[in-house]
Amino acid sequence: MTELHDLNYWQTKADGLSFENRAFIDGEYTASASGATFECISPIDGKVLTNVAACDAVDVLHAVTAARTAFSSGVWSQMAPSARKKILLRFASLIDAHREELALLETLDMGKPIADALEVDIPATVRAISWSAEAIDKLYDEIAPTGMDELGLVTRDPVGVVAAIVPWNFPMIMASWKIGPALAMGNSIILKPSEKSSLTAIRLAGLAREAGIPAGVFNVLPGFGHTVGKALAVHMDIDTLVFTGSTQVAKQLMVDAGQSNMKRIWTEAGGKSPNIVFADAPDLDEAAVAAAAAICFNMGEMCTAGSRLLVEESIAEDFIARVRKAFQNWRPGHPLDPATNIGAIVDEVQLNRVLSYIDKGQAEGARLSLGGQRSQIVSGGFYVEPTLFEQVDNQMTIAQEEIFGPVLSVVTFCDEAEAVQLANDSIYGLAAALWTSNLSRAHRVARALRAGSIWINQYDGGDMTAPFGGYKQSGNGRDKSLHAFDKYCEIKATWIKLTS
Ligand code: NAD
Repeated sequence: MTELHDLNYWQTKADGLSFENRAFIDGEYTASASGATFECISPIDGKVLTNVAACDAVDVLHAVTAARTAFSSGVWSQMAPSARKKILLRFASLIDAHREELALLETLDMGKPIADALEVDIPATVRAISWSAEAIDKLYDEIAPTGMDELGLVTRDPVGVVAAIVPWNFPMIMASWKIGPALAMGNSIILKPSEKSSLTAIRLAGLAREAGIPAGVFNVLPGFGHTVGKALAVHMDIDTLVFTGSTQVAKQLMVDAGQSNMKRIWTEAGGKSPNIVFADAPDLDEAAVAAAAAICFNMGEMCTAGSRLLVEESIAEDFIARVRKAFQNWRPGHPLDPATNIGAIVDEVQLNRVLSYIDKGQAEGARLSLGGQRSQIVSGGFYVEPTLFEQVDNQMTIAQEEIFGPVLSVVTFCDEAEAVQLANDSIYGLAAALWTSNLSRAHRVARALRAGSIWINQYDGGDMTAPFGGYKQSGNGRDKSLHAFDKYCEIKATWIKLTS
């Protein structure tokens, strides 16, 4: 457990912080080729933290050239897996050693509570990189079943140059789910953080260099989606593009890949996850506490947010009362105060988006039961109250579209069949949870749910040991676990004729 200190400690540390704000190409920090920058605004108070390099297509050219040169040289791609492992473990240790600085950067940049940055984001990032590193010298290739006159080898090759485009809600974790397996497998990588949360990605590059990752193998290009992101998507010499972000951008990337070099595209996209509470749930209080956390944690800015609470009609009144009570424990506060569990919304655009969904929910006839207002306005930052809607129809906008804020919609159902039908009635299929004491029902419903992660009598379980990703328009491919390596390699069949 990390020492959490107090608000003053973090504020003093924040005041003394200097920000690296440049791109990282071929082992060096560098301004963008055009010299352009953009303002990095802290959602805590709306003030400018620093000006970050705004990369564009020229920087992409430089980074791809560096990444390709490094890859072709074999300096990393042909290094023994055990040697790559050693360097990546050093990288993970350096992240851990700089946890206070990195957690602070994350909190200042995107508004999450410092306690979460320290207790969740840092350990998960360290684990993702170290787990991938540890796995890489234990992965064996295959020998095909052949006759005595030939030998068939099935081997994994690194794909080459990987571009990773990531979102702002868990900037380091999302990046680490890509960086870990991509680098462990021997690829070169170009990381493009969200323009709303660039600082930790930029800092990670320096730590990667310190750990011994060779120049050109790990590059970071901050900037906007329509400039640097687009240039990566259409580049002719990027082999694979891995993405976490919205479904809308994921679809565009698939088009861009098809219109350029058919680079492999792997996407982790949006969600509208159902959290189903049956009347026979083992512990309704526990389910209510989990339902509140499922939408309030990380300000609801979670792809896996339990944003649709499906409750069996016979217990609805009682259960909603318990959820309302559980919501009282979630209050927006100063993100640098270790006691805070809801920080700031990432920026003003996202804040207004959340508020507009709250307006829409009311306009479409849902009953606003809790919250619904902007808060902490005097801070200059972007905060919103945890919000609960009752009497929601699953066809309403707030039940169909991803809000990405602390806004929970409660929908009721009369039986198991209707619960499954409502749960699957979404373009998304990232995750789902169900609460029941009936083992057969748990299995039955879990199998009927069209989602990549299913949680039974809990919400948001998981670890590096299990794959994570979506069905339907929540994306394709999987992050985490050994399955993640599939995205970062080509499978090669080699046939050798044997003579007597
Ligand atoms: P976004 O799609 O707006 O942006 C994601 C990244 O794509 C950013 O780096 C952005 O700059 C870049 N981008 C935007 N337009 C681009 C373009 N035309 N070409 C190339 N790159 C472009 O998403 P966001 O607002 O940063 O993040 C929120 C979304 O991410 C939500 O939909 C959420 O569900 C999703 N998400 C999914 C997962 C998952 O694992 N499934 C995890 C976290 C977040």
